[in-house]
Amino acid sequence: MAAVVPVTVSAIVLVARGHVPLIGVVDALLVGLMVGAGMALSLVNGLLRSITRLRISTRRIALDSGGDAPPEKGGIDDLDQLAAWLSAVSRHVRRSLREAREREQETEAVFARMADGILLVDGDLRIRRLNPAAAEMLALTPGRALGYTVIEATMLHSLDGLFREAMLAGATRMRRLETIQPRRRLLHVLVTPLEGGVRGSGAVAVLQDLTEFDRVERVRRDFVTNVSHELRTPVTSIKVMVESLQRGAIKQKALREEFFRSIVEATDRLAQLVDDVLALARIEAGPGRLEWQPVALDQLVRETVAAQVPLAREYQVELTAETDEPLVVTGDPEGLRQAIANLITNGVKYNHPGGQVHIRLRRTEEEACLEVADTGIGIPPEHLSRIFERFYRVDRGRSRELGGTGLGLAIVKHVCEAHGGQVRVESVVGKGSTFQMTLPLTEAAPAPLSDRATDH
Ligand code: ADP
Repeated sequence: MAAVVPVTVSAIVLVARGHVPLIGVVDALLVGLMVGAGMALSLVNGLLRSITRLRISTRRIALDSGGDAPPEKGGIDDLDQLAAWLSAVSRHVRRSLREAREREQETEAVFARMADGILLVDGDLRIRRLNPAAAEMLALTPGRALGYTVIEATMLHSLDGLFREAMLAGATRMRRLETIQPRRRLLHVLVTPLEGGVRGSGAVAVLQDLTEFDRVERVRRDFVTNVSHELRTPVTSIKVMVESLQRGAIKQKALREEFFRSIVEATDRLAQLVDDVLALARIEAGPGRLEWQPVALDQLVRETVAAQVPLAREYQVELTAETDEPLVVTGDPEGLRQAIANLITNGVKYNHPGGQVHIRLRRTEEEACLEVADTGIGIPPEHLSRIFERFYRVDRGRSRELGGTGLGLAIVKHVCEAHGGQVRVESVVGKGSTFQMTLPLTEAAPAPLSDRATDH
């Protein structure tokens, strides 16, 4: 239409000014109008073709992206059809975006909460991402890690080397690494190059903290070594004495009696050691091996105290007990009996003639609290944190002399922990020690003690 206007206007101007006859002007106007209509028609056609092309490609996008596109109706106007397809595409894009955001949040949550450490580096070994577990294991903060190279951030040549190896080989590499700062840790690291080791693609490391596992393994190895060592001493002395008897000592009455007494002592020590090792193994085997049931703790304590009276007499130590309040715990009566007996035995043995051991059972909030207080030799403060370790003794010679195995308090600690309780100690050298055992209480009625496995 725009082309018509200037022709018409200029024709009218020319007529008005008398330059052109009127008939010619009308022709010119008609020609102008026809040319304008033709141009407009071709413009509209072009526009319709574009809209159709746009509609077809929009439909293809909607269908390719799995959108819920409306069905195509023969008679519907192209523009309406296009609008319908466009809104289908927009619905699909919105849903895809929401799903992508949810997936990203899930990945982020897993990444943040994973116990394993994840460290992502680019082709120049610069750290792009790390999760909190990796930051903790390598003692890093994101500010001191992101954008830095592995060696700059961690100062661990072994880790840097492992990344390089994996990326050069284009294959996964794994190794155990030790860190020292801020504390010693043993890490198992697995590095996988991304996209088959193309240097520009970087690599991802998965880190596992083996420190605790390694410690437990070492404790087990040490335990076997210690048990073997402890067994060897009495076995060797029995062997030597039996050989001496065979060589003729048996004929001398005094020597014979002395040797027999020593052999009995060594055999007792062996038996005690085997009993204690088995008791520890039983507790460590977990709830499956323990006789879990309601236990009347007050009654159990009274029975255990009564069983220790002969020992207390032998050591001239007075035993007193306060167990008035009826208290029930859920637990293993055999393990509990042994733990209580071990505390009383120690109170008696590491004491002086004329000394005392006082046992008191009471309720503290949700717990049963058993105190075994003695007026014995006491424990120097530097040993207090270690006496619950297996085979740890303050005075090795004295413990052996008293028939100790060095496992008594380790058994107490394991029994308490297996019952969800704790054991603590306070001690003053020359004045005495107080051991305090706490166990969670249950409200259930206890089984009669005579029904339980109580053959000790
Ligand atoms: P042991 O068989 O040597 O008695 P324990 O594990 O029962 O082993 O105790 C570890 C060490 O703790 C003992 O060797 C002893 O030195 C010290 N100890 C334990 N109980 C007492 C106590 N009541 N008074 C003083 N020392 C104690």
